[in-house]
Amino acid sequence: MSQDRSLTVTGHTRVVGLLGWPVSHSMSPVLHNAAATAAGLDLVYVPFPVEPSRLTDAVRGLPALGIIGVNVTIPHKSAILPLLDEVEPAAEAIGAVNTVVVHRDHLSGFNTDWSGFLADLDEKRIEVSGRHALVLGAGGSARAVVYALRQRGATVTVLARRPAQAEQLVASLGPERIAWRALNELSGLPAASLLVNTTPAGMAPHIDQVPWPAEAPWPGSPVVYDLIYNPGETLLMRRARDAGLRAENGLGMLVHQAAQAFSRWTGKSPSWQVMAAAAAEVAGQNR
Ligand code: NAP
Repeated sequence: MSQDRSLTVTGHTRVVGLLGWPVSHSMSPVLHNAAATAAGLDLVYVPFPVEPSRLTDAVRGLPALGIIGVNVTIPHKSAILPLLDEVEPAAEAIGAVNTVVVHRDHLSGFNTDWSGFLADLDEKRIEVSGRHALVLGAGGSARAVVYALRQRGATVTVLARRPAQAEQLVASLGPERIAWRALNELSGLPAASLLVNTTPAGMAPHIDQVPWPAEAPWPGSPVVYDLIYNPGETLLMRRARDAGLRAENGLGMLVHQAAQAFSRWTGKSPSWQVMAAAAAEVAGQNR
């Protein structure tokens, strides 16, 4: 980490933060504090470790403490919904909030994972409209990714190892243009233009795991997009590149979801370059 980013907290400093359990490995403080400093904003981003049993107390305390907004991460992304005054339709449909804006006593919930994912697809010029995508995994981020892909007019097949989880995803997001099948039934899959890994298989320290078996043929020539950003190249991505496919990691999505949250809290667009450089620096350190 470079040490040239100075941060002075005074009685005027506005506070944003992160509610999660744990929060110690989050990259968000580095991204947001770098962006605030670069924008000349008197704003500090603080990680708050909140035990699940204390979430209600923590959320009720936000207006009292003058905190203007928070990110929300595991395990609170779904549990926080009933504690908010208002939840945007996308977050309601996905069933998860990752950004809360506090305006006086009013708490509004948003989800910037799905829109951050779309923003990164756009930036990388990955076209999905009218095309087919495969999504590996059916957990929280899969819901955001499937919602995003459907918003863009893609058809989606979800590959999940637990049928109940896949059925729940389809039931809540709606069956139109979403199919699912077991993650070990890979023969005869429709060709896809995009394959998204939303499982943690391959994430540090388990870098030798891969969610797509070596013996399974690639479904056409998809762009492989791994939501994992640590390591910067997962085993899935390496295998895809070895097969001549394009592969991208999830760092861009992370930065876009953070930038969108920052804009919601401050009304200002952060410097993309500053946030991306801070993210790349921390991701590199963690590798
Ligand atoms: P999650 O809610 O726990 O969902 C993970 C999904 O993957 C579940 O369906 C899980 O199935 C499945 N799974 C786990 N291990 C697997 C394996 N070895 N093989 C096959 N399937 C497996 O987690 P999440 O919040 O969606 O996060 C998933 C990953 O996305 C993490 O690596 C996270 O860091 C990354 N992520 C990145 C961004 C970004 O901005 N780039 C944003 C969000 C998440 P079971 O329920 O059966 O375990």
